[in-house]
Amino acid sequence: MFKKTALFWLAAALVLGACGSKAEESEAPAKDPAPASSQAETPNDQADPAPASTDKAGTAADETTPADDEEAAAVDSPDAQAADETGGDQTEGEEAGTSADTAKGDSEDSDQTAAAEEVPILYHMNGNYDIVPNDESKAPKKVVLLTFDDGPKEAKMINSMFDTLDKHNAKAIFFVNGYRVKAHPELLKLIQERGGIVGNHSYDHILLNKQDNATIKKQMEDVQTIVEETIGEKPKFFRAPNAAGNDYVHQIAKENDMLYMTWSVGSLDWVNLNDPQAVIDNIFDQLHSGSNILMHELPWTVETLDNLLTKLEAKGYSFVDPRSIDTTKQP
Ligand SMILES: [Zn+2]
Repeated sequence: MFKKTALFWLAAALVLGACGSKAEESEAPAKDPAPASSQAETPNDQADPAPASTDKAGTAADETTPADDEEAAAVDSPDAQAADETGGDQTEGEEAGTSADTAKGDSEDSDQTAAAEEVPILYHMNGNYDIVPNDESKAPKKVVLLTFDDGPKEAKMINSMFDTLDKHNAKAIFFVNGYRVKAHPELLKLIQERGGIVGNHSYDHILLNKQDNATIKKQMEDVQTIVEETIGEKPKFFRAPNAAGNDYVHQIAKENDMLYMTWSVGSLDWVNLNDPQAVIDNIFDQLHSGSNILMHELPWTVETLDNLLTKLEAKGYSFVDPRSIDTTKQP
């Protein structure tokens, strides 16, 4: 029954496709600076002409994996940092990590319970935004970090994502926007209840590197506040929309005890609309040990998640628990 309903909505979502997301985008606060959007938007314009495409813009640029400097640079000179991040260096052999099981061995048991429990710190982020073990003898390096941006949007999608994550015993970071939390605080609570780790993705999903410092600070700290008010704890991770950060963004992240990151593998789920297979193909094209995988709360991503995680496991990857990442170690 539920399944049928879910299928129906999925089908509906697929049919509506871009329109659906357009509608969503337009929920975006009217504030977004038009110029910012239009710039960032380039790659996505055709797909999503929505005016209020802060989101799309964000995502559009987002998509340009910072590791792919060509695009990233083109899009919006995202963050000096992002630029240097040329992922390349990760040459680890697939063989390296002994895989899934060992991966989270240590933190496993604690995973079952909710937020407050102790998870051993086993990983840190490198300059490519990859997640690497602090000590390779204690934690496998053949891991990926799963992240989902631009929510929370819908209970249906969120629950489906967690059903899949639970099935694979995986954790993920949900980088949320403050305006969405304000509209649907219950969805943020749902993410917490289901064991998601909440990250800060700015309040309005605007290009922070185009803002003055006061706006940047407010965009970042208002999310800390609303998230804490809603679920009782503040995010420990920050991801700038479109990877558009600057020194001040880094500074504010640090002052708020957040680890600043972009990503090292873009699923391009915001570009290849309604295309679940493309999500998998794009990820596997760039996949490497420590991959920090950018995805979004989008119907086709939700649909393909089980397949994706199954394939990753088949390749010997396990899923890093975000709580096992040292958030004080900014590369
Ligand atoms: Zn985004």
